[in-house]
Amino acid sequence: MKNIYSNIFSFNKKTLNKSIVNLKKGNVVGLPTETVYGLGGNAYSKIAVKRIFDLKKRPKKNPLIVHYLNYKDADKDVVFNRDFYKLYKRFCPGPITFVLKKKNTSKIQSSVTAKLSTVAIRFPSHRITRSILKKLSFPLAMPSANLSSGISPVNAFDVSDEFKKKIKIIINSGNSKIGIESTVVSLVGKPKILRPGIIGLKTIKKFLKISAMKKSSKISGPGMLKKHYSPGIPVLLNKKKADKNCALITIGKKYKNKINSFNLSKNSDLKEAASNLYKTFRKIKKQGFKKIYVVKIPNHGPGIAINDRLRRASN
Ligand code: AMP
Ligand code: MG
Repeated sequence: MKNIYSNIFSFNKKTLNKSIVNLKKGNVVGLPTETVYGLGGNAYSKIAVKRIFDLKKRPKKNPLIVHYLNYKDADKDVVFNRDFYKLYKRFCPGPITFVLKKKNTSKIQSSVTAKLSTVAIRFPSHRITRSILKKLSFPLAMPSANLSSGISPVNAFDVSDEFKKKIKIIINSGNSKIGIESTVVSLVGKPKILRPGIIGLKTIKKFLKISAMKKSSKISGPGMLKKHYSPGIPVLLNKKKADKNCALITIGKKYKNKINSFNLSKNSDLKEAASNLYKTFRKIKKQGFKKIYVVKIPNHGPGIAINDRLRRASN
């Protein structure tokens, strides 16, 4: 039998070099990060960026996040401000993305930012992606490694299932620790959270004045699309039970363990629940359920990010 996962590699000197050679050539590589797995390519290369959009079938108006090793590397592309330094000092490297003004002299492809004058940047903490960034002279445009509007991959097998052999290298580093996408913070104009994540509004508020995004705000990024993070089958929220042929996603100890129930966290730990969300969606789909019911998830801490993804999945 052919190995359908022959494009998955464990990380070592050889696969590090192979990744670098490919990235320098303008190819894309599947990489682990602490949030979800990404599809990385040279943010300065037109062809690499086109490959990312084409593979994902991503609408051109959805900008990509650009990944750097540290702020010194990002200095040539974006205009920093005081709020940025405050948050960078506290949370980076880590699961937070900053939208800042792009410098006119920046080499970032205009397709990366969907022709906006701003750019979203992140400094991932994952050891493997950092060791790759260290060897590159360009930053990586890296959206989640899934087809547009679907759910993000949280391990190398998910990535391979999404793109099959259309990508040649996926670096395996087990399950992503956080399991949902980064918090996106706009620092142009009044600070605003554009996409909730594991680093929450309450935590960021300790460092600067910031507001959550209004539901009516104009779409300025992909995570803000109404339909997004969809498992491809209907998702219904705030349910208490489900028919046998539907899956029920639960949390805590209140719900009986049934063959069609999937618990995100027995201890109602919302961080754990977030890390299990996409894994659970994929598991449910693989088992052939036609619908997903979800119980009410507490709306505080990481629960805010979970509910944001659930709402969009249910659209
Ligand atoms: P992902 O598919 O996880 O890479 O999602 C990209 C995220 O980056 C979205 O949630 C957008 O809000 C955000 N984003 C990227 N570029 C920009 C930008 N220039 N302005 C606002 N948001 C952006
Ligand atoms: Mg995505």
